[in-house]
Amino acid sequence: MILPVYLYGQPILRKEAEDVPDNYPNLKELVANMFETMYYAEGVGLAAPQVGLSLRLIVLDGEAVANDFPECKGFKRAMINPEIVEFSEEEISLEEGCLSLPGIHEKVSRASRIRVEYTDENGKHQSEVAEGFAARIVQHECEHLDGQVFIDDIPAIRRQLNKRKLQNIIKGATNCSYKTKSIGK
Ligand SMILES: [Zn+2]
Repeated sequence: MILPVYLYGQPILRKEAEDVPDNYPNLKELVANMFETMYYAEGVGLAAPQVGLSLRLIVLDGEAVANDFPECKGFKRAMINPEIVEFSEEEISLEEGCLSLPGIHEKVSRASRIRVEYTDENGKHQSEVAEGFAARIVQHECEHLDGQVFIDDIPAIRRQLNKRKLQNIIKGATNCSYKTKSIGK
């Protein structure tokens, strides 16, 4: 089932998400719905708060960008209660977007290599190193779980330049090809 994507301005995107409990009902169905929503919206990652759920759960699939970023080949994951436990000192600045901020693309500096620990959809603990754009997707999605979005740390001048776009997103005046939920409508 395709779920509506909550847009910038929705308070849930600013909340620190709760841990997914062990006995969370229909977790597999939720993961499947989040993947379906992400593919429909042509995203490479989606966090549960973006579909209105305050849960520490993300899905990602970098296959769509694997031509440009080979490290994303086969990088399809569902991560339950992910935690990034190591960040490389080296950072790379690249342009990003977000399904909750349609039409906005800004450069963000992020660690080029991370280690993330999480529970997979089969309940197995995983500890994994991700590099390059794969590391970027994980960092972007984990930020959502802490109530942050990727434009929070861009220079003030860049945020100023995006002011009208942001106001339109808050109002729901966007031209999205996917279902959205703004506070405006
Ligand atoms: Zn995002």
